[in-house]
Amino acid sequence: MPVPKAELHLHIEGTLEPELAFALAARNGVTLPYADTDELRGAYRFSDLQSFLDLYYGLMAVLRTAEDFTALADAYLERAAAQGVRHAEIFFDPQAHTARGVPIGVVIEGLSASLERSEERYGISTRLIMCFLRDESAESALATLDAAKPYLDRITGVGLDSAEVGHPPAKFREVYEAAGALGLRKVAHAGEEGPAAYIREALDVLGVERVDHGLRCMEDADLVDRLVRERVPLTLCPLSNVRLRTIDTLADHPLRAMMTAGLLVTVNSDDPAYFGGYVGDNFDAVRETLGLEPEHLRELARNSFLASFLEDDEERRARYLAEVEAYVFGGGPA
Ligand SMILES: [Zn+2]
Repeated sequence: MPVPKAELHLHIEGTLEPELAFALAARNGVTLPYADTDELRGAYRFSDLQSFLDLYYGLMAVLRTAEDFTALADAYLERAAAQGVRHAEIFFDPQAHTARGVPIGVVIEGLSASLERSEERYGISTRLIMCFLRDESAESALATLDAAKPYLDRITGVGLDSAEVGHPPAKFREVYEAAGALGLRKVAHAGEEGPAAYIREALDVLGVERVDHGLRCMEDADLVDRLVRERVPLTLCPLSNVRLRTIDTLADHPLRAMMTAGLLVTVNSDDPAYFGGYVGDNFDAVRETLGLEPEHLRELARNSFLASFLEDDEERRARYLAEVEAYVFGGGPA
């Protein structure tokens, strides 16, 4: 069994595998612009973040009913369990669905039906994080937060994702203030394609507690010092960075340098159906390519639980951390 870990940067829409996409398309009478799963997989060659987002949003057309969202989350949790995931904080993008006429309640009820039985079925505790699309307006984000109010008992926090460049965090100051007033935790994508300055802005203007990606902090030594000092977790997604050309090859990934610098980094899968692997596959890829030792992998697993929003269940966090310390690394998948 792989090392116990938490996954903190996972877009549930990004777990839509071609086989499930075609099954849901058939069930819902949606025609996809691909002949079969092979042709669809062949389209997964992206030149940048935007080229991925175009295909990603197109394929979401197959998600129509609450049952579709339940099936999507079930499929993810089953795969995640096999890769050692014990706790998952799952992103979803309500605007990507409400824009297509699927009500936010359908999305949340559907996902919740899966997450509610996740521990019993898959041994995975879960949290749900609602993300705003940063290339949509601040008003749209506020309307989304408002529409989510009847479901706040299911939502732990808010996030910010989609096309980063040209959409600085400060654009969403007001909605993050409102989310904070509702008691929601705060994360945001920053410093993936956007500059290190966006990471500072996410911390200072939005008050985020965890930065998604944050890779480009390495261009700003003062920022690295601050992130280390304040113990701000970064949710890295190595295979995603290669697929979206944020870095040229996995060998160029700064993960190791970031660990050496003392940053609280975690390894995650982002949109695993599109980027060549789930979280355990990301662990295995960095172990092999960056020459990580078992103690590096243990640190990454430990960090994942330290960075989790488990403040409401410290007993559980302590249990997971004890499992990490007791784990014996063998030659199998990490
Ligand atoms: Zn992401």
